[in-house]
Amino acid sequence: MTSMDTLVSLCKRRGFVFQSSEIYGGTGSCWDYGPLGVELKNKIKHVWWRDFIQQRADMVGLDASILMHPMVWKASGHVDHFTDPMVDCRECRHRFRADQLEETAWVHYCPATKGNKFTIPAGEPCSHCGARRTLCPDCGKGELTPPRQFNLMFKTFIGPVEEDAAVTYLRPETAQGIFVNFENVQQSMRRKLPFGIGQIGKAFRNEITPGNFIFRTREFEQMEVEYFVNPHDIVEGRPADEYWHDRWIEDCLAWFRRYGLGAENLRLHEHDRGELAHYSKRTADLQYRFPIGWSELMGIANRTDFDLKEHAKFSGKALTYFDEERKEHVVPYVIEPSAGVDRALLAFLVEAYREEEVRGEKRVVLRFHPELAPVSVAVLPLLKKRDDIVRTAHAIRDDLSRHVTAVYDDTAAIGRLYRRQDEVGTPYCVTVDVQTVGDTDKGEAADGKVTIRDRDSMEQMRVPASRVVTVVGELLGGKRWADVSAQIGRSS
Ligand SMILES: [Zn+2]
Ligand SMILES: [Zn+2]
Repeated sequence: MTSMDTLVSLCKRRGFVFQSSEIYGGTGSCWDYGPLGVELKNKIKHVWWRDFIQQRADMVGLDASILMHPMVWKASGHVDHFTDPMVDCRECRHRFRADQLEETAWVHYCPATKGNKFTIPAGEPCSHCGARRTLCPDCGKGELTPPRQFNLMFKTFIGPVEEDAAVTYLRPETAQGIFVNFENVQQSMRRKLPFGIGQIGKAFRNEITPGNFIFRTREFEQMEVEYFVNPHDIVEGRPADEYWHDRWIEDCLAWFRRYGLGAENLRLHEHDRGELAHYSKRTADLQYRFPIGWSELMGIANRTDFDLKEHAKFSGKALTYFDEERKEHVVPYVIEPSAGVDRALLAFLVEAYREEEVRGEKRVVLRFHPELAPVSVAVLPLLKKRDDIVRTAHAIRDDLSRHVTAVYDDTAAIGRLYRRQDEVGTPYCVTVDVQTVGDTDKGEAADGKVTIRDRDSMEQMRVPASRVVTVVGELLGGKRWADVSAQIGRSS
């Protein structure tokens, strides 16, 4: 299993993820996506949007604003209930979640060993004196305050006056933007149940204990669907909400599998009664085997009619759907598949990372799905001192870049250039060499062909330069290497 440290270091070295405001010492658990990170992130969002919104006849999209009417958060329960119990150290001022104190390693000055300092594993007593933790786990000296409820929403003010009437919050989830627009979307798009609204956007939670790189951060991006169903409908002998809940669980699992996550690293976790949110009929998490252990990749919840009913109550609007067949108004039930973009990115990164041995040398390779790879194709000149080779390589890159993410690199010898592209997961490299352009001094004619190299097998094929865009397009579109190669062989 790849360690988180290995990934963090690769991400920084190769321009995927940087610590936010690093030159000022960093901002707690905020991360910036670098040139390759933003490409990877955009591609994840693009395929998700394409697969779940654009290609489905029963889905539409939305982009609601981050700042919303403060009553939204009253109705949703976030103002009153989106809290964690917190304790503070009176000595070092560190703050802890009261329910996580026993899961934290603790500092202890042991009276049985002349006050020597020990760091003792979470939940264990001191092996010298048998004492258990009562003081601050961080400094080992301070008393802790009694628990207080701490709201996880970021508070801010609309307009120039910092007064209570102007208070609002950065949204802690994108879902509410969909619920408050239910009627707008349903009526403007003339939708019949069942239908869904999807949204990708930033959300903010003032987590007390964020961490594990981009796994838990205070600012993050969600890919959410609210799928509205008629609770009175029966599908395949079952209530529609239960049927669609299962369908969404299957579809989400299949989606992550399709883009490369291994079946052995994915599992379903059903919330039991204790874990279940008060509005939820059933919630299943999709868990991934991250370097920190099995953890939530996404959740798929049956939120019933809770949200629409609450918003109806607080806004005075009906928020119902007229069932033409039964001639009755119903409040739809909602199935909510909710995924984090950052977590998906981390999972794809973990899954893609490989260290291999190639001819006695270590090769680091990110085996991204070709549609997710930050760079789709790199164009490399074999000799950078030959103007015609460099010119041809630039021209091919320019052509390719109209269709896919293409880069040019000539800052090292070819072997090194290949390794660099492997390390960032570029599925194909195109090399322009002497034969491509010919050598007049030696009387060698140009063959007009370039070499395409496959990242995973490291196999190569010669392709006419005029066909590179088509061939790379076919490969990225999922056509098998052997088939493309055979076709090139037949036609040239
Ligand atoms: Zn302390
Ligand atoms: Zn002790």
